Amino acid sequence: MPTSDPGTTTGTRVAPSVVGDRPEAEHAPRPGWRTLLAVGAGSMAGRVSRRLGLGAGAIIGGRVALALDPSVLTRLAAGRRVVLVSGTNGKTTTSHLLAAALRTAGPVAHNGSGANMPDGAVAALMAGRNAPVAVIEVDELHLATVAAAVRPAVVVLLNLSRDQLDRGSEVRAVAASMADAIGAHTDTAVVANAEDPSMVGVVAGSTATTWVSAGGRWSGDATGCPRCGEALRRSPGESGWSCGCGLARPDPEWTVAAATVLNGERAIPVRLQLPGEFNVGNAAMAIAAASLMGVEPYRAAAAMTQLTEVAGRYAVVTHRGRRLRLLLAKNPAGWAETLPLLDDRRPLLLVVNAREADGRDTSWLWDVPFEDLAPRRVVVAGDRAADVGVRLTYAGIEHTTVADPLVAVQLVPAGAVDVVANYTAFTQLRRRLSADRAGGAT
Ligand SMILES: [Zn+2]
Repeated sequence: MPTSDPGTTTGTRVAPSVVGDRPEAEHAPRPGWRTLLAVGAGSMAGRVSRRLGLGAGAIIGGRVALALDPSVLTRLAAGRRVVLVSGTNGKTTTSHLLAAALRTAGPVAHNGSGANMPDGAVAALMAGRNAPVAVIEVDELHLATVAAAVRPAVVVLLNLSRDQLDRGSEVRAVAASMADAIGAHTDTAVVANAEDPSMVGVVAGSTATTWVSAGGRWSGDATGCPRCGEALRRSPGESGWSCGCGLARPDPEWTVAAATVLNGERAIPVRLQLPGEFNVGNAAMAIAAASLMGVEPYRAAAAMTQLTEVAGRYAVVTHRGRRLRLLLAKNPAGWAETLPLLDDRRPLLLVVNAREADGRDTSWLWDVPFEDLAPRRVVVAGDRAADVGVRLTYAGIEHTTVADPLVAVQLVPAGAVDVVANYTAFTQLRRRLSADRAGGAT
């Protein structure tokens, strides 16, 4: 059943408040002096941070404002319609696709840099003070806190898989925390990925779920039923999953076929410049959410075609005769989706760190299907180049290992190069490439 017509109530229910004007939240009175002071000080801290070259300043500004007024997120969100986007992989891309769609209807506040803790949400709402709509990417373990503060109109739930193994975030524990968040907001509309059994478990407490078949190659972290714990049944070559207890993949209202998103009678072409099947799945999630927010699907899809990169991901950067296509992958599921995007004819540079934001434990490397890589020139760099090197040796992939990624770039021939890096490796590489282009020190 379509859920796109504003005000339509279907078998899977659209909360009418989603599409109408949101009344001023009664739990959040107008900003008082404390909030104004907090926002002023936070904005100033952000400006100082930027001027000193300490980064975009978003997080520090949000952090200062939160320290001065713990209720600042609630107060900044009051009266706005907020969409939260959460899940292990695809948050940043999906929130960018959604923000592009919603901007066709007016200004949108958005934490586009991927700062997805509460301080990043505060910073985004401070920066977009007058936007009536906000799209906020939220870390899975912070969903409950942020949802309690902003009372979202829509929550978009993508997928759950292992990430940052040492952060105490085993998939079931993360799912339980997210389920609490959803259970506390039963009037919030949810857009969820029907292909991920973990997300179906998370959404069990929601009465207003729109299901999307957003695909996903990786099922290695959802082998057990979220309801009874028994092994799920999946037939090779078939989509869908089921369990003996009766839980099964919900019927999706939105599905994906090649570069088209299907919804009832509608076939919406999605001509993204971003590569990969998984990004068409992300677009389907974003189109379903945009539809709940009152933006017509064809218009939403057209707006998404303008995106060429997302916070530097998929960007092509020229460095000393090499054209580097920068891809980010952080965990086995992300790498499994990214490896098929690589061009077999290009040399490949892999950069892996294991800092706090990456997770210190690199045992996940053994779950990445590096065996699938076709032979090519492969150079490995980053703090944990040696770990990747051992893994590639076992996969039978010839490679060269060198710690410094900018030295590693010099080891591949001039021309197009694919680069896959994990989180801090990606951020650090972008910064150094940018400094090098500016003629500064690397
Ligand atoms: Zn079951």
